[in-house]
Amino acid sequence: MESTTVQITESKLNQGKNNGKPKIAYFSMEIGIDERIPTYSGGLGVLAGDTLKSCADLNVPIVGVTLLSENGYFYQKIDDEGNQIELPFNFNINDFLTLLPGKTSVVIEDRTVNIRIWHYLYKGVNGYIIPVFFLDTNVEQNTPTDREITKYLYGGDNKYRLSQEIVLGIGGVRALQSLGYKTIDKYHMNEGHAATLTLELFRQIKDLDKIRSQCVFTTHTPVAAGHDQFDLAFAKPMLGDMLPEEIIHQVTFENRLNMTRLALHFSHYVNGVAKKHREVSQAMFPEYSIDAITNGVHTPTWVSDPFQRIFDRHMPGWRSDPYTLRSAFSIDKHEIWDAHMDAKKKLIDFVNSRYNVGMNYDYFTIGFARRQTAYKRPDLLIADPGRLKEISAKVGPLQIIYAGKAHPKDTSGKEAIKKIFSFKKTIGGKINMTYIHNYDISIAKLMVAGVDLWLNTPRRPKEASGTSGMKAAHNGVPQFSTLDGWWIEGCVENITGWSIGSSDVEEKTSDDEIDKNHLYDKLENWIMPKFYDDRDNWIRTMRSCIAINASFFNTNRMIQQYVLNAYFM
Ligand SMILES: *Cc1c(COP(=O)(O)O)cnc(C)c1O
Repeated sequence: MESTTVQITESKLNQGKNNGKPKIAYFSMEIGIDERIPTYSGGLGVLAGDTLKSCADLNVPIVGVTLLSENGYFYQKIDDEGNQIELPFNFNINDFLTLLPGKTSVVIEDRTVNIRIWHYLYKGVNGYIIPVFFLDTNVEQNTPTDREITKYLYGGDNKYRLSQEIVLGIGGVRALQSLGYKTIDKYHMNEGHAATLTLELFRQIKDLDKIRSQCVFTTHTPVAAGHDQFDLAFAKPMLGDMLPEEIIHQVTFENRLNMTRLALHFSHYVNGVAKKHREVSQAMFPEYSIDAITNGVHTPTWVSDPFQRIFDRHMPGWRSDPYTLRSAFSIDKHEIWDAHMDAKKKLIDFVNSRYNVGMNYDYFTIGFARRQTAYKRPDLLIADPGRLKEISAKVGPLQIIYAGKAHPKDTSGKEAIKKIFSFKKTIGGKINMTYIHNYDISIAKLMVAGVDLWLNTPRRPKEASGTSGMKAAHNGVPQFSTLDGWWIEGCVENITGWSIGSSDVEEKTSDDEIDKNHLYDKLENWIMPKFYDDRDNWIRTMRSCIAINASFFNTNRMIQQYVLNAYFM
């Protein structure tokens, strides 16, 4: 990986490259730009990090703004019964971030909350540098409670959440101004968490059209209940003068301040993160025009070392131009397989040394890792242990590797982890299974490259996009998934992977029973026989994942669409 922390100011370093003057500010509650900095929880933050990395690779003049989250999301331990234990994540901020001299503040409930600013510099493949600013309220002058506003990502109650959003949005705009950024002309809100930035722009500019011309909003939530909203009676005293009467009625819905509506109201460009997600979002907010830009992943981050080596040999230039991966079709099948086995051995060695599970290099291995929550159905694969045992006995041995955190308040997500643990015990050595603790970017890198099949089972239309299957595709690992999010665009049956359940993408529900049986049928009759008995064709599928999907579902392609449609229009 090319990422480096540099101590020189980016404006000096970027001289002569696009004048080095940042024009876009990208706001996100979480940013996973470096696997050692735990200020992200999952897909949203990793996407934000990958986006900024591709901007650096393409010399797009952008800056990132986020919260420090000094104890991260949480460090996950799991006991033998499958109970998740959440510990504060200890990371040494000074090792990775530099404290800047500037300071700013916001007002929350009439109290001044001081904010200090850290930065991290990310250097792209051509040397272009992008700063990411981390806002931090752990300042001596603040009350003990206010000092904790930026302690935990997504921690606490509504009050904590709104305080964080005030710091991110309002504090973020002021932080950039205090640092002397005078050339920002687009504010990109990655999800509604940053929507309070529009209130600060309104306070300063007052002109709705002018503000709209500066704001871009990407929504990520296909479910109405998932959008951040606060009772007006609660939000008003928190925000005070920042929420003037003249805009309240435009951004409240059923007496609640709705962050998605706030962002929609002030943005000239709004998009969903896959074509299907655009449709679902458009139906939810018919009075706004919503576009689609399908997500991607940062290619050099997610290609494992063995595949980096063969890509370097066959497709030089793939790092700065991932379209180049189209020609993966011409790579020799043995080379693909050898690279895959290298990545697989690395993963199997890791789980064996850490969990003493005796997994086998040659057994068919399924991976499932992401936020553990009910709609993603982490237990669909293990819903019928008898059937799974039968399939394994009939077609060939099966290994399963799980990982993922459940949000501390998501009881059904935690139940799913327990269910997986109890299944692990009852399956009695017939199917080898393990659950890797504390899923993060580095575990994700091992898993998406090291398993043979990437499983994804969301109930549609709840998965806005999903990105982990794109990471797998970058390593020639096919996905097996319900047709939701990006997979509607990426699935070419039996060529880039397989679909689960109905292929009618207009169907708005997923039937667990139907999907489960379909999953088992395909595993038994198509997928595992191809792996065990038709290896040559299996490797063809692996190659197609790279040539067809990795070449398109990357953040370089994605950010070029943002530049053309959202930033410079
Ligand atoms: C990519 C990634 C995710 C997102 O996974 P989905 O399957 O798209 O939900 C979550 N967590 C980590 C650490 C990731 O790297």
